[in-house]
Amino acid sequence: MDTLSFSNDPEHVVEADRAHVWHHLSQHKPYETVDPRIIVEGKGLRVWDIKGKEHIDAVSGGVWTVNVGYGRERIGKAIADQVTKMCFFGGTMGTIPGAQFSEMLIDKMPGLDRVYYANSGSEANEKAFKMVRQISHKHHGGKKHKILYRERDYHGTTIATLSAGGQEERNAQYGPFTPGFVAVPHCLEYRSQDGSVGEEYAEKAAQAIEDVILAEGADTIGSLCLEPITAGGGIIVPPKGYWDRVQEICKKYDILLHIDEVVCGVGRTGTWFGYQQFGVQPDIVTMAKGVASGYAAISCCVTTNAVFEMFKDDTDRMSYFRDISTFGGCTAGPAAAIENMKIIEEEGLLANSTAMGVHLKDNLHGLMEKHRWIGDVRGMGLFAGAELVTDRQTKEPVDEKQVAAIVADCMAQGIVIGATNRSLPGFNNTLLFAPALIATKDDLDQVTDAVDQAITRVLG
Ligand code: PLP
Repeated sequence: MDTLSFSNDPEHVVEADRAHVWHHLSQHKPYETVDPRIIVEGKGLRVWDIKGKEHIDAVSGGVWTVNVGYGRERIGKAIADQVTKMCFFGGTMGTIPGAQFSEMLIDKMPGLDRVYYANSGSEANEKAFKMVRQISHKHHGGKKHKILYRERDYHGTTIATLSAGGQEERNAQYGPFTPGFVAVPHCLEYRSQDGSVGEEYAEKAAQAIEDVILAEGADTIGSLCLEPITAGGGIIVPPKGYWDRVQEICKKYDILLHIDEVVCGVGRTGTWFGYQQFGVQPDIVTMAKGVASGYAAISCCVTTNAVFEMFKDDTDRMSYFRDISTFGGCTAGPAAAIENMKIIEEEGLLANSTAMGVHLKDNLHGLMEKHRWIGDVRGMGLFAGAELVTDRQTKEPVDEKQVAAIVADCMAQGIVIGATNRSLPGFNNTLLFAPALIATKDDLDQVTDAVDQAITRVLG
């Protein structure tokens, strides 16, 4: 076979894909009879598959990544110009786009100072964990090494990040995990066990973190790693007061606050970063998806100067951060990220995310009035979820097969939406919306109209 002259003929592409590609997160048995879906083109919020069918993408590339939408020629050109001039230099050297993007990024993150480049969200989180461990060894005799994570949160797919993973579906069968990671309870007010709500619930959820710290011993805990809004685990927006208490607890026990902005970062919630919605000041922030909107692979682990300074000691040969990411030296990532950030600023996409987020939630609340299956609507900016239950009193989750059927029905209507992961047994019952930050009211109306029809068809 002449593999150099690959035919783009749709049938050939589908057969090549069926024969050789192992898709992420996919059970492949159905592909023996059903064609894998191949996406060939995108413009704005819309994508076309290989059969020519148009879709509105309400999940920004499936996994909430393409924040500025598809087909941005200026990002493509910036990448092409940069990699033609200087594609890569790794290890100890820097590059011009690396320096430029770090300056732009730090300008959006008061109180933070240093950008460490990597490729994926998982990798950025691994960097943060390694920093915490090394700080523990260098400054606390190795004792302050434990990393707290929260039920339902997700921080990545590697064994160490899964060790900090609070989702059953992602973790099951991949153990044994790395020691030194300890779970704290989630903060989903809708599923409050004792009926407390609002600030009272927030206080209890934060107190539960302090209880874990006291049980483990504060002098053993190096960091607390949290998503600002739990994404795949249920679009969980912590109630007012939660973040203030979390910050207070971290300060009280000298625990570094690591916020995972892999999903919420770069405009998703209507501010540059999700933590900025809550007035909290982290020590470490990790980000990936929206940093370059998927036009190139890039992730960042951003720290305060205080964290950075803990690695500076030229009398101790082992004190520098002895970590590398080969492709952290690619210039395509920061070149794309620079344009991505300029686009967000020039087109006012933070404001659009906020305004359209209100419209999206209004639409979902409208659906909630019509469909008894919607138990709760949550979200911030263009990031929203609708939790499906069989009964609003018992809050029994709708069966995941029916949730999947609603997503599939929308897909058949040309609307791509998502659903959360099974975070706890029985729970992947939340429909998920994270369109590009350019979405208009009309786009969102089309999305929620499709959901309306799908719910009626699947659940009645
Ligand atoms: N952190 C969060 C909150 C995520 O949602 C994800 C991926 O969905 C990750 C980390 C891991 O990112 P990546 O898939 O780029 O490794």
